[in-house]
Amino acid sequence: MKGVKILCVVILLVLCGYSAQGQVADSVDVLDYDIFVDLSAGKPFVGEAVVTMNLMRPCANISLQLAGTADSVEVNGTRLASPTLSALPTSGIAVGQSFDVHVWYHCNGYVESGGWGGMHFDSDMSYNLGVGFDADPHVMGRAFFPCRDNFTDKATYTLRVKAKTGWTAECGGMLQSRILNADSTESSVWRIAQQTPTYLVSVSQAAWKRIYDSIPSLYDTYPATYGYLHYNSTRVRQAFAELDSVVPMFERCFGPYRWGRIGYIATNKGSMEHVNNIGLAKQAISLAEAGQSTIAHELGHAWFGNLVTCETEEDMWINEGGASFTSEVAMEAVKGREASDDYYQRTLEEVLRTTHVTDAGYRPLSPMPHDYTYGSTVYKKGWMVWHSLRGYLGEEVFYSALQRLMNSCAFGNIDSYRLRDSLSLYTGVDLTDFFDFHVFSPGFVDYHVDLIPGDHPAVNIRQQTVGTTATPRGSMVPVTIFGTDGTTMKGYFQEGTSTLDVQYDVAFCVLDYNCEFSDAATLGILDLTDYAGLQTLPTEHMKVRMDHNIRSQKFYAEHHMAPAMGEMPEGVVRRANRYWMLRGTWTENDSLKGYFRFVRGAASSSSYPNLDRGFYTKAATADSLGLFYRANGSDSWHLVSRTREGDANEGWMVAQNILPGEYTLAVVDFENLSIDTPHPSFNTTLFPNPLSKGQPLTIEVGTEMPFTVTIVDTDGRTVWHRDGCHNGQKLDLQLPKGTYIVTIENKQISIQSKLIQL
Ligand SMILES: [Zn+2]
Repeated sequence: MKGVKILCVVILLVLCGYSAQGQVADSVDVLDYDIFVDLSAGKPFVGEAVVTMNLMRPCANISLQLAGTADSVEVNGTRLASPTLSALPTSGIAVGQSFDVHVWYHCNGYVESGGWGGMHFDSDMSYNLGVGFDADPHVMGRAFFPCRDNFTDKATYTLRVKAKTGWTAECGGMLQSRILNADSTESSVWRIAQQTPTYLVSVSQAAWKRIYDSIPSLYDTYPATYGYLHYNSTRVRQAFAELDSVVPMFERCFGPYRWGRIGYIATNKGSMEHVNNIGLAKQAISLAEAGQSTIAHELGHAWFGNLVTCETEEDMWINEGGASFTSEVAMEAVKGREASDDYYQRTLEEVLRTTHVTDAGYRPLSPMPHDYTYGSTVYKKGWMVWHSLRGYLGEEVFYSALQRLMNSCAFGNIDSYRLRDSLSLYTGVDLTDFFDFHVFSPGFVDYHVDLIPGDHPAVNIRQQTVGTTATPRGSMVPVTIFGTDGTTMKGYFQEGTSTLDVQYDVAFCVLDYNCEFSDAATLGILDLTDYAGLQTLPTEHMKVRMDHNIRSQKFYAEHHMAPAMGEMPEGVVRRANRYWMLRGTWTENDSLKGYFRFVRGAASSSSYPNLDRGFYTKAATADSLGLFYRANGSDSWHLVSRTREGDANEGWMVAQNILPGEYTLAVVDFENLSIDTPHPSFNTTLFPNPLSKGQPLTIEVGTEMPFTVTIVDTDGRTVWHRDGCHNGQKLDLQLPKGTYIVTIENKQISIQSKLIQL
């Protein structure tokens, strides 16, 4: 149990919405659609639909939507003089009474302007995709049948499909019959008996090749059909093989699969979670991560979206964020938790770096404007929030609450507020603060964690926010404390200083070691005992080189997508939007070399576009980039001597001997950079200073160990470097006139002084 507030008020709420709402959905409730479409001649095609409805309130007329033309219309057996769907008269029908609208129609294969959603007639297949990214409303049942096209009016369906000669149909629902007609066309009948919204209903025809499978799971064994045209059967079989572990995992986490059978067809265009008959972009038939993730995502909609549907498009994160989260759960089922944590962290890194650029700003998940219904915020930030909710509640509590939700709201709709209240009720944890910050506000929270060792060790947490003015309340931050003897302990801490009750000597701490929570940081771990050489932490944007193995050591790098805290020295023009927190117990003697990535501007050619957007701009030169370090949050920042690898647009700042503590980048006016007072026990004197032309420079420093001298000019270029210098040494520099920074370093010291050459 986490230290979160317990809900002590009994809430009695209608938590799921079954009644239709919105401008077209409040007058009638559709009960059933009986649809015939003749696809045998391609497009245009003719259709016939009987729509059975209940009148919900008195009104003069109601409407149906169709991307086609009604040729003839009957209401309760009475033919209308003119066949319109926009004003179907309901006079004489009592409230609560059911009635039929019978429509004979034809359609020309409507596809939305962006070319995605709609009814496609390709040369080798016909199929619908039930939502349109550009369409308004996004739901697109109307592309092949007359309907009340919204997220909330759920109904049952009979689909009767006539397919082209030599082709055969694959549709949503359970197959009732399939016959070959005398003219070699095929007629098939399908039934969706579950309450389903219009956008999840599908028809298709092609010379489908099929693989039939069955998937044993917790609640049942589900028949499965994979329809395809393009690849060989081995590839198709392999691509779907992991469903044997994914489906039982989904049932363990989300409850029973309620749709009777599992089906996929490989389409030419895109992936869409149609009930029983998922449209899968053909490239996704693959063992590659992207393919496996799409296969899982679309199946995950069988719970997130298909079973419990967002009430309006403004809450699409419930569907799409939820389904995206299921692809992480599927990865866990197949490859284990380490792989799924890595997958999650790669996505978090991308979200922190780039989602606010893609979606033109940091956006709350709810309410989402129409243009961003299917944007990165909804899919990926939505995924992060479902993931965080699991971490916040604890897995057992989270999954059992989710199963209860899926059960109590099955075939219904929900919005963000009722989702919050349902989960609060089922878990006993008040989720108001969590939803206020993570769902109803934009941006992220960053936690800066310092361990204060000593006789009374403590953890200090400071929080800052990115992309929002909201303040997170009641956060409990997971921190793992490592002892000098290898003991570890995890605790949840609030902002401020908390004394630790531990019986061992503390060494260091790590923020969110178990990847529970989507704050503004990702965590990378290297094993320094394994391997001497160069190791990369791509998600943390750094590399580490070791010359030798280091005894029982791990290297923890937190990469924070938030500006470093604390005062920067005078002369720093602009600090980066991010900092590194390096944790562990290695020392100078281990000589770890650190590489810190930089990427200029939007850098769309980079693998990491927008990493330093707004900080390392086109106007800044690579020479003006400085690397800064401080040991902890109460230390002051100082410049680290560094070299650069890569070009001006993308590369690495390289530091010779990195230490535990914080690193960040800054654009620096080196001429005006103020230098820290040197460490008192190693007081350094450079004389004469200013240095006249032709004069040697003498260095006096309180260490008898040899040291390295590096001299950097005001553009950040290293102009002079020598190893193995010693106390009292006279250096013949021959520098051009100007101001320089002299860094004196060995395993004991790292000191910087300003030098003026006359
Ligand atoms: Zn989806």
